Amino acid sequence: MIDHRRLGRELDLFVSDPLAGAGLPIWLPAGAAARHAVEEYVRELERRSGHQHVYSPPLGKRELFELSGHLGYFADDMFPPMRLSADDEFVLRPALCPHHALVFRARGRSYRELPLRIAELGGMYRSERSGVLGGLSRVRAISLNDAHTFCAPDQVGAEVAAILGLIREAHAALGVRPAGFRLSLRGPGEKYVGDDAQWARAEDLLRAALAGMEYVEAPGEAAFYGPKIDIQIVDAAGRESTISTIQLDFDKPERFDLSYTDSDGRRRRPVMVHRSLVGSMERLLAYLIEVHEGAFPAWYAPVQLVLLPVDDGQVDAAADLARRAVDVGLRVDVDVAGSLGARIRDAARRRVPYLGVLGAREAADGRLALRLRGGRALDPMPAGDALALIGGQVAARSADLLPPD
Ligand SMILES: [Zn+2]
Repeated sequence: MIDHRRLGRELDLFVSDPLAGAGLPIWLPAGAAARHAVEEYVRELERRSGHQHVYSPPLGKRELFELSGHLGYFADDMFPPMRLSADDEFVLRPALCPHHALVFRARGRSYRELPLRIAELGGMYRSERSGVLGGLSRVRAISLNDAHTFCAPDQVGAEVAAILGLIREAHAALGVRPAGFRLSLRGPGEKYVGDDAQWARAEDLLRAALAGMEYVEAPGEAAFYGPKIDIQIVDAAGRESTISTIQLDFDKPERFDLSYTDSDGRRRRPVMVHRSLVGSMERLLAYLIEVHEGAFPAWYAPVQLVLLPVDDGQVDAAADLARRAVDVGLRVDVDVAGSLGARIRDAARRRVPYLGVLGAREAADGRLALRLRGGRALDPMPAGDALALIGGQVAARSADLLPPD
């Protein structure tokens, strides 16, 4: 069976060491390279769609999370506070929203700035029980692709629709195939903030955004502060989880006393839309490893091109070509150890998308014989053309190794 933990070991993507702790995996260079490429893509998508990026710390004072409601409603999922002195306690944050509310509050805001979209790929923590942890899919230290849009009440519908469009775009680029949409609603019990009118209003807005789409309703799956649209995936073992989410929140703007000056000069409360396009880097990569069986599209493959000199006579030419490949932004290795057949098999084992074989004749006339992942061999071509071909597929973030004919 396909299992991202086994592939993660085979491909040297990440390691889980009991000495570091369960649910606290370490990203190895190959896994980090793939993750960097994915992160860069997501940041670019967010920049193009009007998001502004910030950095905020993964821990904060206890009072911040009392104000946000997390310590009141979410403490069971949090690590216990760290006490430095009687009146100085810190908390590993379970979400980025409190810090982003402070970004909004950092100065006076005008209606002209709305919708204000604050994005961050930030660290947060969950005190998961050790029994449920595994590989990258369920972890205690989470790197979340997150953003909060602060908007006027009449902007919420358009904002949710725009976010759904971005989610579709990101899924298509990465190869995420959603298993379904879910409208996550309040369930019974005391674990929810806000009044009934707020919840009904938020629910109506999300239902309107989902009109015409197929979705299921899931009572009890809402965030403690509001209902959400969740986009679900199913992993190779058949377990369902959430990869993308859009949440409406009327509560935090109240708690943090957020306001903007409207066109008539009056102070008004913004609505906060929490959203994640692709979820946490951990869960996303766990899913992508399984869905691609380790054979990532070239644009986020850890190594995109392996150069194989046929014998010692082509080692210098291979090193020169590797420098040119690095200069045009490619991730490249030169493999000289062992027989050519063994090196080709090793590159196939590592799911490297492009192999460049350099024999005496290719080295002499500046050509390269490309082999694609899967075994297809192309006729030797000028080395510059080969790099341009690979660079073009990477720049286009194509799922294919060759441009369309
Ligand atoms: Zn949030």
